[in-house]
Amino acid sequence: MSFDIVVVGSLSLDMVMDVPRRPATGETIKGTSFNTFVGGKGNNQALAAAKLGAKVAMVGRVGNDQYADVLEDNQKKYGIDTSHLLRDETEGTGLANIYVDPQGDNSIVIVPRSNDKLSPADVDNASDVISQSAMMVLQLEVPMETVIHAAKAAHAAKKVVLLNPAPAPADGKLPKELLENVDLLVPNESEASLLTGIDVKDEESAYKAARQLIAKGVSTVLVTLGDKGAAGLDSTGKELFVPAYKVKAIDTTAAGDAFVGALACKLANGRGSLEAIKYACAAGALATTKMGAAPSLPSKEEIEEFLSACTTG
Ligand code: ADP
Repeated sequence: MSFDIVVVGSLSLDMVMDVPRRPATGETIKGTSFNTFVGGKGNNQALAAAKLGAKVAMVGRVGNDQYADVLEDNQKKYGIDTSHLLRDETEGTGLANIYVDPQGDNSIVIVPRSNDKLSPADVDNASDVISQSAMMVLQLEVPMETVIHAAKAAHAAKKVVLLNPAPAPADGKLPKELLENVDLLVPNESEASLLTGIDVKDEESAYKAARQLIAKGVSTVLVTLGDKGAAGLDSTGKELFVPAYKVKAIDTTAAGDAFVGALACKLANGRGSLEAIKYACAAGALATTKMGAAPSLPSKEEIEEFLSACTTG
């Protein structure tokens, strides 16, 4: 295999402004600082896996603008294959405007732009990297028909398909033809709650939600539970649980992306599921100890050092 993982998903540029308070209707206020960061769940998860040594290919759409250069250059810096990172001629690169107040609360506006143009035909054109990858990683920040098409193509080619159902659809419904083509579903607590109607907040409720989702066609479900770790059921109905590592969390942004990237990295390399989940929990925990999304994604060396120095729970 030329690649461990192919990610079919979103890329965006995050524009973060620190503000004394979030502006009210009609109000103009002065911010105190401004920074841009690479983002988008697809991009974050591709980077998370690449920083851990996985060979990653990206299938996505950016615009034909300066933001696209920043995103592509950054992917290349981490060795990600960008031969299927397409430039859309009519839509600009996806953007997010994020206002952060002194309490750390934020207001976010996302404009998907080129991400909304990623099509089933783009997936078909990437059949070379899909066939050369051990697994596919998907999220829901590109059109649903593209996600379904990608899952079907990878499943038909006998690849492991991981879906992080984020953001979860507002009506809580995922199409059956998507779920039937997913091997591993990795929602967080709020996504699992939306998808099942169960108030998922601990190990027991995660098992209950996993049971319901498996009945809909998914093979394995793993719910991330923030500072409680991760719990789910595998394809044989066996309970999987790893408590969170104890860390001093300062910003939980991208903990889920770090978790998914690390999990995919281990699974693509054939590591057993519990070992992979422990590794993913370590990646998620470490991501909470640094500010930001992409900058907080840990490296292989950071995880190894962390794991040799601490215990779970
Ligand atoms: P998301 O960012 O999608 O909401 P979670 O908050 O569930 O995802 O975090 C993903 C994983 O990161 C968790 O399963 C856990 O292993 C780890 N994690 C998240 N928050 C913490 C925390 N405060 N302390 C330790 N580990 C954490």
